[in-house]
Amino acid sequence: MVTTSNNSLICLGIESTAHTFGIAIATSQGQIVVNINSTYTSQKGQGIHPREAAQHHSEVAPKILKQVIQQTSLPLSQIDVIAFSSGPGLGPVLRTGASMARALALQLEIPLVPIHHAIGHIEIASLFTGARDPLVQLVSGGHTSIIAFGQGYWRIYGETQDITLGNLLDVFARTAGLPFPGGKAIEALARKGKNLIDLPYVVKGNDVSYSGLLTATKLQLNKGVALEDLCYSLQEVAFAMLTEATERALVQTERSELLITGGVAANKRLQTMLQEVCREHGATLHIVPLLYSGDCGAQIAWTGILAYQNGLQVSVEESIVQPKWRFDKIHVPWR
Ligand code: ATP
Repeated sequence: MVTTSNNSLICLGIESTAHTFGIAIATSQGQIVVNINSTYTSQKGQGIHPREAAQHHSEVAPKILKQVIQQTSLPLSQIDVIAFSSGPGLGPVLRTGASMARALALQLEIPLVPIHHAIGHIEIASLFTGARDPLVQLVSGGHTSIIAFGQGYWRIYGETQDITLGNLLDVFARTAGLPFPGGKAIEALARKGKNLIDLPYVVKGNDVSYSGLLTATKLQLNKGVALEDLCYSLQEVAFAMLTEATERALVQTERSELLITGGVAANKRLQTMLQEVCREHGATLHIVPLLYSGDCGAQIAWTGILAYQNGLQVSVEESIVQPKWRFDKIHVPWR
């Protein structure tokens, strides 16, 4: 049941940028009332097919909306705002979520708010951890960025120069015949690994480069090196690279908090490495709760509240999706 005061806002948020379709309801008091998500997974050894993912999303969308309504006993007429992830992401899946958002906004005659998916990852993590002005490590399938907020914008202090950390893990998992997304399976296998294989470690300033590491790990797999040892070594090298870059950025930005968010933030080994860095520099490590680390409706619903309260909305006619939207170009008025 949703409990709200007279001046409280209710936002229904729709996530649909990649493998996950989700709907959540958030209130302006910071309550996530419901958060239902369904993730498209592919067979072993295959990655994400944008059209198949869009098909999955359009099949689950009405069912999830029904569940949201049933679980909250909330009449749709009580919703004040619709928020949707308008980018970045895969065109066909972005359009699936946007279509539902537009239809709901038109039907209910309420405002429509476009949300940048990465900003959603940061805001949901901030809501649950209480991080105020952190250095952020955003690690997912679409992002590997070290950022801090300044003068209205998220500023990039370090990033990947090629593929993302999530992509590195997913592509290696796919090559090794593990299911997609592969980060969790790699983490489980890495726990059984014992031998550290020599793999390329590439850090340039605050940036990392993962494509050579991917190629080298695949080569070792083809040579017959044990998968457990490769998963262990891949994690050790990839995470150490990013931890080194993050440590440097922490010192440069003089932040006393480090926040990690995005799907890869669920990884315990990465968390441990960052915890050590924070301890050394007297900083607090904030970790997004597991429930909200990966893509979910909650990140969009909550950011929808923040955006709408700050006057952001779009007409249905102008509500385009933006597959290549960069988050450092977005003015964020609520910070
Ligand atoms: P973005 O959010 O940037 O658009 P995305 O849609 O791929 O990218 P998320 O759902 O945030 O994002 O993250 C998915 C990624 O997280 C995948 O690469 C997946 O393998 C990885 N991941 C999930 N759990 C773990 C884990 N325990 N360890 C490492 N990686 C993980």
